[in-house]
Amino acid sequence: MIAPIVVVGGGHGGFHLALALREAGVQTPVILVDARDGLPVQRPPLSKAILANGDATTRGRAQASLPFRPADFYARHDIRLRHATVVEIDRPRHEVRLADGDRIAYSHLVLATGARNRRPDIPGVDLPGVVELRTPEDALHLTGALDDEVDVVVVGGGFIGLEVASAAAARGRRVTVLEALDRVMSRVVSAPISEHFQVLHAARGVEIRTGAFAAAIHGDHRVAEVELADGTRVPAGLVVLGIGILPEDRLARDAGLSVSNGIDVDSTLLTSDPSISAIGDCAQFPLAGVRRRLESVQNAADHARTVALRLAGSPEPYCAVPWFWSEQFSSKLQIAGVASGEEDAVVRLDGPRGFSVLHLAGGRLTVVESVDRPADHVVARRLLASGAMVDADRARSAGFRLTDLLADAE
Ligand code: FAD
Repeated sequence: MIAPIVVVGGGHGGFHLALALREAGVQTPVILVDARDGLPVQRPPLSKAILANGDATTRGRAQASLPFRPADFYARHDIRLRHATVVEIDRPRHEVRLADGDRIAYSHLVLATGARNRRPDIPGVDLPGVVELRTPEDALHLTGALDDEVDVVVVGGGFIGLEVASAAAARGRRVTVLEALDRVMSRVVSAPISEHFQVLHAARGVEIRTGAFAAAIHGDHRVAEVELADGTRVPAGLVVLGIGILPEDRLARDAGLSVSNGIDVDSTLLTSDPSISAIGDCAQFPLAGVRRRLESVQNAADHARTVALRLAGSPEPYCAVPWFWSEQFSSKLQIAGVASGEEDAVVRLDGPRGFSVLHLAGGRLTVVESVDRPADHVVARRLLASGAMVDADRARSAGFRLTDLLADAE
């Protein structure tokens, strides 16, 4: 009997891999191993709908939206869920070892282990009232704590920190965001986007402090204040840590696979061992000539489809256009594409509501950031997929719309 395809991690990538294998007609048994109990869940609502104000029914609905599929889906598709932590990959024997000592043989192994939150190495970080956000359990704990605490300090002005800040402020909390760099979300968005969201947060009462390093967290039995590097103290009944993530690549590293910033894979998501693939947040892969690690549900799901096609006998190199989104207050940010590092022109398109920022490298469109312009985002993804060239002067001319480029590109 053929050994199963074993997937370590039943998150976004792992779930979509199992699904895509069945959609591609692969009949091999599939075992989805995840350290977390319960059904595989999506994470985006954890920093959005789950934290929003609402009565028991609204909150119940938000929680019910988390599982990708109900329990009977897995049985119907012959996908076995195993709740266990994988502690070792035994490459010579083609087996994984679980924390309880069991071993599972694999015909192919897929690492979809995601990431873990970074924790700042500062005094007081383990005090009660200092929380982080990764799992449904974290989100339920946080949303409960937001009912009780008035002063909320968010450490880190990235997507997740700002989504938490907007939910907390909408619930009437006094919110301070501490961002070490000179603008929020600077790792992932351009300056006009940072500025828009900083103004929006300020208008809704969130105090964003840039250039602010959290140096210590104080409190007797529970958090009471956050101390900044310059000695300033900010009152805090609740501190939310949101300073980014680290790829969960320990199994791969211990097994001697090539690992750098995440598990190294080729353009078909194969690791340095031909029996092992890696997908999603934990994988570093080549895209448009640059090795990258991306943290998004689109990336995890599209990686999954690429591996499923390869295992079904129709390999294709990975070439999806990356896209991301964030929701803060009533504003929606959508980003299509990734910067090449060679961008030499930026064009801003303003509309009656919202705006888009186009980034060009040698005339080629590489990234489009849209704030409350969903139609621009949809068009941008088509343009990026077709490798559209854009004349910056034309794009700057009055009345120009992104759709004008579609006819040129297709
Ligand atoms: P994950 O979905 O994180 O799954 C990894 C799984 O592996 C976990 O379930 C973990 O338990 C399991 N695992 C790890 N190690 C082991 C082991 N040794 N043994 C067994 N199991 C193991 N992305 C967006 O695109 N848009 C958003 O709006 C958005 N919002 C987010 C909000 C929050 C709060 C968070 C935390 C993330 C958000 N993301 C968002 C990011 C997105 O969820 C991730 O990029 C995506 O889930 C990555 O999928 P993955 O399969 O690589 O990892």
